[in-house]
Amino acid sequence: MRMRRQQRRRHHPKSSTQIVMLGTGTPRPDPERSGPATAIVVNGTPYLIDFGPGVVRRATAAFRKGIVAFGAAATELRTVFLTHLHADHTAGYPDLILTPWILGRTEAIDVYGPKGLRDMTKHVLDAWKIDIRNRVNGLDRLPRGGCRVNVHEIEPGVIYTDRNVRVRAFRVRHGALKNAFGFRFETPDKTIVVSGDTSPTPNLARHCAGCDVLIHEAYSQKTYDSVSRRWQHYRRTHHTSSKELAALAASVKPGLLVLYHRANAGGAMTLPDSETALLDEVQRLYDGRVVTAHDLDVF
Ligand SMILES: [Zn+2]
Ligand SMILES: [Zn+2]
Repeated sequence: MRMRRQQRRRHHPKSSTQIVMLGTGTPRPDPERSGPATAIVVNGTPYLIDFGPGVVRRATAAFRKGIVAFGAAATELRTVFLTHLHADHTAGYPDLILTPWILGRTEAIDVYGPKGLRDMTKHVLDAWKIDIRNRVNGLDRLPRGGCRVNVHEIEPGVIYTDRNVRVRAFRVRHGALKNAFGFRFETPDKTIVVSGDTSPTPNLARHCAGCDVLIHEAYSQKTYDSVSRRWQHYRRTHHTSSKELAALAASVKPGLLVLYHRANAGGAMTLPDSETALLDEVQRLYDGRVVTAHDLDVF
């Protein structure tokens, strides 16, 4: 695998794929961490994964930092993928549909996600119908097409291909949620796997084969030991511990492991330096390259 990766890099000496972390948080409303949202930019075209709360403002902040591909008001975030329907990953949906439209997007967006996405989209558009009607028919005369959403409900397999990327969806294990997905993005110069929310599953490990970057959620084993049995059970069935992630990384050997969505279900509001604790736990058991992601980090 490593050999093949090196060969691929030689064919593409100058990497054109960028990963932009737009939200690395969890349901907890941490002002430093927006809800889960990750963008992959290939040859100037952005692809968004998840739209947690804050996504549009973080995309604008990234634009100001020089990621011009998003557009000044996130108007270019038009190809979107959703891992699962939990609120922390979707609470930015009306913002993503409406705000860039109000600021100048004239085309529909395409959103690929689990069953139930069609209903969610319909209800969001219904909830804002008075405003939408007003902006289309009122003085602003906004083009109705700019707030249209083409919904694509997905099943495992290749769900999207264009000249920049091939995206494969695979099922992960996230409690009782039947349709929770991870994604494998293959671009001309990088293979990137995004875990979504998941407890360990061989299916994810299988789809990580040969990846350059693995973006994975995790919780700290130390905090696990301090929460109630009920929350321990919750974590085991919904998320991945530092220990489990280290074992996964040791077997699939990603070029870079990026920690995001640092879950702390059932834990205290804040822990002193929880970030370093988590990183230490992973590094104690895994000697590959690993970083913990912050909002607006670019890899
Ligand atoms: Zn979730
Ligand atoms: Zn989540």
